[in-house]
Amino acid sequence: MRYKGSVYRPPSEARSLIVQVTYGCSHNTCAFCSMYKAKKFELRPMNEILEDFDMARQAYSKVGRIFLADGDALIRPAADLERILEYIAEKFPECERVTCYASPSSVHKRTPEELKRLRERNLTMVYMGLESGCDEVLKKMRKGHTAADIVAAGQKINAAGIELSVTAISGLGGVELWREHAMDTAAALSAMKPAYIGLLTLMVEPGTPMYDWVREGSFRLLDSRQVLEETALLVAQLDCEGAVFRMNHASNYLTLRGTLNEDKQAMLQRIHSAMTGRTDLRPEYFRAL
Ligand code: SF4
Repeated sequence: MRYKGSVYRPPSEARSLIVQVTYGCSHNTCAFCSMYKAKKFELRPMNEILEDFDMARQAYSKVGRIFLADGDALIRPAADLERILEYIAEKFPECERVTCYASPSSVHKRTPEELKRLRERNLTMVYMGLESGCDEVLKKMRKGHTAADIVAAGQKINAAGIELSVTAISGLGGVELWREHAMDTAAALSAMKPAYIGLLTLMVEPGTPMYDWVREGSFRLLDSRQVLEETALLVAQLDCEGAVFRMNHASNYLTLRGTLNEDKQAMLQRIHSAMTGRTDLRPEYFRAL
């Protein structure tokens, strides 16, 4: 397989075949994110994509899952995506699911009919970043969308029958906005009702505006205890019946997993146990993106 630059994928795609259909992120301005800073956003030539699938077919006897990288695969024209999905179905009839990252912009670009056609061709799930449900935080972080925009994009994905996995970032409101961040993020997730919710924890990466803000003191980071307090508030407010909630990312201080709403009390107990020192946290030096 041929990859350009660093390739990122959600933790749950660790066993998937990964093929880049775009390079980089079409937005690439979020103040906390360094993932695709070194890459110019481009659509990968279609012939190269199909060649990669041919190579993978020769190399692997069974491919159960495929993840279409990079940051915003759904931004490709719908006809391209249909061609890619049809090629996957032809080459990998055993493939159970195909997933990709999507941005609110790319979801809004696709019509409901296009999304349904992609679903029919086995686009099973998309991963989308909410980051925060608080508009003040989103604006500061240069996300380029309001919470209402992102919620509408998530609802559009649900309506097409595509599973939705949404990530938010603990600590993104800093000391000033942690309460608003927790409450509004819970409200946005509850309105979107994703099948999966992933909560990461803010890491400060060199080369980002966030790195400069922290150094100059204009953004004050939460410490691990404050992150847990914020997480407890968020989880307590969530109303997403049936959604799988996961904090299993290397950036998280505490690992947590449960199904909402039935496991909410058990998850809150685990957070409180960590806050009182009865559950171990991941040490700062083991945290990573
Ligand atoms: S957080 Fe997502 S949308 Fe924002 S720059 Fe990074 S990859 Fe792009």
